Parts: sequence; C-alpha cells; structure tokens
Amino acid sequence: MCWIFAYKWDKEASPFLLEWLKNLEYRGYDSAGICEINKAGEFYIEKAVWKVSNLATKVENSDKELEWYNTWIAHTRWATHGKVTMENTHPHYSKNERFFIVHNGIIENYIELKKELEDRGYTFYGETDTEIVAKLIEDMFETDIETTIKKVFRRITWAYALGVIDRQEPDTLIWVKIWSPLVLGLAEWEYFLSSDANALARFAKTYINLDDWEMVVIKGNTHKIISLDSGLSLDKQIEDITYSEDNYALWDFSHFMEKEIFQVPEIIDNFIKWRIDFETLEIKSNTLEELAAKDFKRIEIIASWTSYNAGMTASYLFEELASIPTTVYVSTEFKYKKKFINTDTLYIFISQSGETADSLESLKVVKNKWGFTFWIVNVVGSSIARLSDLGLYTHSGREVWVAATKSFIGQIWVLLIMALYLGNKKDLEYTKYKEILACMQKLKDNVSLVLLESQKIQKVAKKYAHYKDMFFLWRNIQYPMAMEWSLKCKEITYNHTEAYSAGELKHGPLSLIEPSFPTLLINPEGRFTDKNVSTLKEIKARDGLVIWLITKWDKNKDLYDDVIEIPHTIEELSIFPVSVALQLFAYYAARELDREIDKPRNLAKSVTVE
Ligand code: GLU
Repeated sequence: MCWIFAYKWDKEASPFLLEWLKNLEYRGYDSAGICEINKAGEFYIEKAVWKVSNLATKVENSDKELEWYNTWIAHTRWATHGKVTMENTHPHYSKNERFFIVHNGIIENYIELKKELEDRGYTFYGETDTEIVAKLIEDMFETDIETTIKKVFRRITWAYALGVIDRQEPDTLIWVKIWSPLVLGLAEWEYFLSSDANALARFAKTYINLDDWEMVVIKGNTHKIISLDSGLSLDKQIEDITYSEDNYALWDFSHFMEKEIFQVPEIIDNFIKWRIDFETLEIKSNTLEELAAKDFKRIEIIASWTSYNAGMTASYLFEELASIPTTVYVSTEFKYKKKFINTDTLYIFISQSGETADSLESLKVVKNKWGFTFWIVNVVGSSIARLSDLGLYTHSGREVWVAATKSFIGQIWVLLIMALYLGNKKDLEYTKYKEILACMQKLKDNVSLVLLESQKIQKVAKKYAHYKDMFFLWRNIQYPMAMEWSLKCKEITYNHTEAYSAGELKHGPLSLIEPSFPTLLINPEGRFTDKNVSTLKEIKARDGLVIWLITKWDKNKDLYDDVIEIPHTIEELSIFPVSVALQLFAYYAARELDREIDKPRNLAKSVTVE
C-alpha cells in the first residue's frame, strides 16, 4: 500500500518511531523512508528499498538521537513513476535541501513541469513525479511555506495527498489532500497524518477525515484545516478511532491470508445475527427498507477486480431473485465510457477499502449527474461510504494483507441479502425466499466443514501448484467464483490461470488443453451438473487433467483426476463453500511454491491511484 504518514508534537522527542516502524512492516513493499527535523531545522533522512523492516533496522543502527526530533514525515511506496530504487524512495527534497515531501498518488502533468524546471536549470536525481514537486516548491517559494503551497497546488494536476516540511519553518507541517485519502489523528500534544485511520489506532485517540481540496496546517501545538477552494478555515467532525489488537496478531496461522480464510465462519455468524430474524423470517435493515421504497427498475454495479467479481455474482442474484436487470462494469472503464445516468437506475459501488481510486472517481461522475449511489464497503468512514447516498458495510473485519478473502465473502453476503430483500418486496416466491433463509441458518456449519477438510484441499493444491497454466470453469452464478479464484491464483502463485464460462471452452480455449494444462471445473449440484459433465468429457477426450469441485457424494467419481468436495447446500448459497474451498486451493498452491503469500510482488492492498 502506498502510504504516507506524519507526526508532530510540541515537545522534543519521537519516542515511538522505531516501534511504530516495526509495526508497519506489513505495509512495506517497494521502499520506505522517513525525514525528521528538530526545532533548529536540523534533519535526519533515512531510506531503504523493499521492506519497512529494512528501514527500521537502518534507523535503529544509526547514531542519531531520535528523541531529538519533533516532526517527521514517512512513506511506504508503491512505485508508479520510476523503478524501485533508493533514488526514487520518498521523502524527496528540493535542490537546496530545504523542502522535504512525501506523496501518495500521481502528478499527471509532471512531464510538462519537469521540462519547465529543466529549462530553469534544475536537475533531477531520480525518476519520480514527486521529486518534481519538491523542486517546484523551491522554484515558486514566496513569503512562507503555507503561502507557497497554496500556489503550488494550483500548478500540479491530481490526484494526490502531499506532506511538506520546510527547514526554515521547522515548527510547521503542511498537508494537502486532492483526492487521495488522508486523515488527521489527534492526541494530547500530538498530531498524526495518515492515509488511513487504522495506522493511527494505537497512537491517536480521535481523527478527522479530510475531504478533497483541503489543507492542514500544523504550527507548534495548534492546527487549522483550510478549504483550498474558499480559503476559509473549516470546523470538521472529530471521530473516535476503534482498534482491535486481534487484527494484527497471526495467532497460530502461518499467514494472514490463512487466518482470514479461517475467520469466515465467524463472520458469517455475525452477519446472520445482525440481519436475520429466523423466527419471523425477516431481514432487518432500515437501509434496505429505504432502498426498496425507491423501486429502481435497473441496477448498474461499478467496481474493480475482486469487488467486480462480487458484482458479477450479484448480477445473477438481482436478476434471479429480485427480477431487476443488472449490468456490471469495471470502474476503470466505466469512468470514461458514455453514460446514461437516470433516476430509474440504482448505481452500486463496491470496494473493500472504500478508497479505490477508480471506483471513487466513477462515483463522483455519477453523483455529478444526479444518479442515486449506493456503497458496499468494508472500511468504516471511507471516502466511497461518505460520498454515496446510501449503503451497507460488509463488516468483515480488517484484512491486513493484499489477498481479499473474508471481505469478498462479506460483499457477496451483503449483495445476497439485498437481492433477497428487494425480491421479497417484489415477485420472489415466498417458498423460495423461505428456503434460502432456512439454508442460511446452516451456512456457518457448511463453510466450517470445508475448513475442517482443508488438508484434502492442500493435497490437491500441492499437486497442481506445479502446473504453470490452468483453467477455472463454471456456468451461471459460479462463473464469477471461477473469475475470482483465477485472479487469486495469479496474484499469489504467479501461475497463469484463466476463468471461462464452461460452455465457452469449445469456442476457442479448448485448443490449449493438453496433459500439462489442467482444468478446475466448479460443479456443485444444481441445474448445470449434467452440462458440466459434458464439458469434462470434452476435456478428458483431449487428455486434459480435471479437478472436479463438487458436492460430496457426487456419483461421477471415475471421470475426473482429483476432487475437491463441498457439503450440500442450495444453488444460491453454494457460492460460499465454493469460494472458501477455492481460497484454500489458491493459498495452499502458493504455499507449496513458497511465495510471499501476504505480500505478493507488485501489488498493493488499497489502490489509491488511478
Ligand atoms: N507517484 C509516486 C511514486 O511513484 C508516489 C507513489 C505512491 O503513492 O506511493 O513515487
């Protein structure tokens, strides 16, 4: 996760810097750096590539007295402009080494600015867009740092959050937020700035969510938040920080991904307790009541990758259960396509972090055209939740690392509940509604049974991890499951996997089938069981290997090479045990290959750049 952080207090010490850096190891990725200054303007800068622990070790071994500094800025980088090198690691600085900055996001007009600065004699030590801003601040400096930043931000094109310190004004810390997320944490005598509130949890007690086009100026032990549009000071709402130590403990698990998969039954249990009254067969939600009253005729879902796959699942659910035609878009494409925003359509935005830049930008476009927006996010208080008209949290708990597991389950759960609620208000047969609710009561046990048999899945995953290519196939509502777990395998095993609708195999991809190209065919019992047997036969006729993901006691045992079994449940709910089985499959395959499962190469948990 690209991530920025700053700390300031009015006394002379940064007592928890090392402790804090070590705690942030889980965020480290491409590189990390800090810059500290004291009230005399003396500074200490340290950088390291790759893990944050590399930086922590350097800081620990340095001869600097950390207690001496009272303001610092820090950054973990997810490289967008320039390779992963020491030169490109933040903080960046001006030619005169007076201004130091950290930056989350992208400066879109950096080429033009760089040219201008080069014409004026500036040279650059690295390749980042950020370094250009450090030099631009020096070039445009006028009166003081606050006045200068108010001018500089007008020259740089979005989207970013930017923190600046000036050695000539060592008691001042300035931040600007133009679209990338930023929160201001508060504690007695201390200020913190961070890309998300979770990182502040053990240090600050409360926080303020900053909105776009806002600037924070901290001088000594006072702060002000200014609107960059109006120039006026703003009075913003202060919120409490909630923190659970449990989220960051690995317990007896080998990886956070494993721990989070094993948390799924508990999450399902919580969902059920909060939302469903099994006595009255009622789904309890004021939000859904409000939504149903609006009687939308169409739904458009906008999301990226895992959330997009959850959206695809929902399109089957909304159409089957609630009879509402639904279209799903990847947010990167939606933003730039011609739109027909209208009042009959509900626009749903799905994002784990609630900060996914592509989805957030798409949301703003819909809002500007008066479309009704609904959010489904996991992180409470995040930007997408704050900007939309209505929404529901997935309440899946914090996911520490990259691979979405329990949050995906949370997303499909919320979408299923929405479809059921809306369907029940429309023309969903009451017997069907009752059947689904009754089966939901057993869902926790159902998923727990998959986890209990995880060793069997591990055995299969170990074998197939060594095949460089693989197909994941299914039809209808399971198709997005195949998409999602093909994505998960790519992310953490680095193997090439592709998901196809099983029926499409014969229209092209079948040509790839040979003994070294296996297929995982998702086929729990239901309407498509026999059709999938035909697909399986087509693959076997070409000597392809098949893993058969099926409901226990399937009778076609002699047809496939290996099997992953899930307990019986109805078609609409089989997505849950299937999903958990495939999460385990991807996890164990990556473990067999000895990958850095929680920190897959090149990726970030929350993608806050467009
Ligand atoms: N664009 C900047 C860089 O590549 C910042 C990326 C980030 O948000 O980490 O260094």
